[in-house]
Amino acid sequence: AELPRRLSDLPAIAAARNPDQCALIETGRRLSYGQLELAVQAAAARLRELGLRGGDRLMIVNENSIALIVLLMAAARLDAWALLVNARLSEAEMEALRLHAGPRRVVYTAGCSSDALAHAQRAGAEVSDWVMDGIDIGRVGVSALNEECEAEPVREAAHEQCAALIYTTGTTGAPKGVMLSHRNLLFVAAASATLRRVDGRDVVYSVLPISHVYGLASVCLCTLYAGATLRLEPRFSVDAVLHALAHEDVSIFQGVPAMHARILETLATRKAALHAPRLRFVYSGGSPMDMDLKHRAEEVYGTSLHNGYGMTETSPTVAQTPLDAPRSDTSVGYVIPGVEVQVADADGQALPAGQVGELWVRGPNIMLGYYRAPELTARAVDAEGWLRTGDLARIDADASVSIVGRSKELIIRSGFNVYPPEVEQALNSHPEVVQSAVVGRAVAGNEEVVAFVEVTPSSTLAPQALQDWVRARLAPYKRPSEIRIIAALPAAATGKVLRHKLAQLL
Ligand code: ATP
Ligand code: MG
Repeated sequence: AELPRRLSDLPAIAAARNPDQCALIETGRRLSYGQLELAVQAAAARLRELGLRGGDRLMIVNENSIALIVLLMAAARLDAWALLVNARLSEAEMEALRLHAGPRRVVYTAGCSSDALAHAQRAGAEVSDWVMDGIDIGRVGVSALNEECEAEPVREAAHEQCAALIYTTGTTGAPKGVMLSHRNLLFVAAASATLRRVDGRDVVYSVLPISHVYGLASVCLCTLYAGATLRLEPRFSVDAVLHALAHEDVSIFQGVPAMHARILETLATRKAALHAPRLRFVYSGGSPMDMDLKHRAEEVYGTSLHNGYGMTETSPTVAQTPLDAPRSDTSVGYVIPGVEVQVADADGQALPAGQVGELWVRGPNIMLGYYRAPELTARAVDAEGWLRTGDLARIDADASVSIVGRSKELIIRSGFNVYPPEVEQALNSHPEVVQSAVVGRAVAGNEEVVAFVEVTPSSTLAPQALQDWVRARLAPYKRPSEIRIIAALPAAATGKVLRHKLAQLL
């Protein structure tokens, strides 16, 4: 089927099909597709009155909410770019993104953090209830108009226009502003909906931040593309997930490995079973998945834990496991139809099946580029459209893709390659370990392995006991020279560990 042209076509299409179908649910509020479409029309008219034009950036400081989705769709309808900023960033981080992207206006959706409110205050934002065409979408703050903002050109083909400007997590360094087109995002939304057979009966739990591309394309847009129901949750809490699974008909749950780990840990402590009568599809992405976690999660969920791989630059999905994947599958599945991959050596030569090299990706999901960073874009994407992911991968003879780590994080110890995810798996398999992160430390022309470990609140685990644990599981060159137990690993809003901050602790 042909893809819609703009993100904002999704509510219109679903409303034409079935206006009474439930589109969005947040605590205390729900909207049908018919109401969502009316709200988007009215919000687009209001944003136009507020001076927003095609090619302008609209910075949306948000948590997952109905207001966020209405504002995102309304901006899309005006050919403006949505600069999606998580309300949990610090005020300084928000300000850095604002200065980099130069938005015409900043809007703040309900439920914002104190940092977001401080930022709103400094921007002189006026907060009011937005009641659009009789439909209440919640409170929205609007900053003053930025007269100096320069609009970017509006592309003739609407689907090639930048729809979302999303900054990468910042795992390896400063976040980069990724420009994603309507087509980039709709391509992934459609592929995800088709591969997972999402339809109007599905209720999708949306707790991954929509300000990140995984929550935007693979959760939110996939759901709206399928005309299913999106159950919006502003913050992850185990109790909220368990309640929604038990009482709100949730059929699809997507998380990051850390979320699945917390759910299992809580159920284990309470000696409780999971009650999820309609759950049919559980998914993990964004970070390497531990096989031990996968097996335990499958016992508890009673279904496969699907794995998907991608990055902000690829909107995000590159590969995911198929619906009928066996539970023993340790790969990230197969490349989604329409996308090409190859594994290359350091000289850019394609490697045969089974060999580890850098993963290159090409297809309709590849970003337009990094905003205001043409040199960085040219280094990432070559003239033939191949994106260098910076991830080390293997493609097996059956075409399944396995991610072994990031090239930047590869530790070379006495000539041997140590992939941090493998060491982390060994540490995480200890029942008292919540999560861990392994980094390299330079010592006299060599590198040694250092592990940072977060343990369960009641644990009294000592580093020496963990050394004994990994000794039984890892070859000597992979074993950490030092294990440090810390209260909490530095994490992004998505729950991903910010590794460059750990390097500073070395
Ligand atoms: P930055 O680029 O700013 O350093 P980041 O790469 O973490 O941050 P994202 O775009 O959010 O920013 O994350 C993409 C990366 O996450 C991928 O390049 C890959 O290293 C990792 N990743 C995503 N999904 C998986 C997965 N299923 N298994 C292993 N690694 C994954
Ligand atoms: Mg990256």
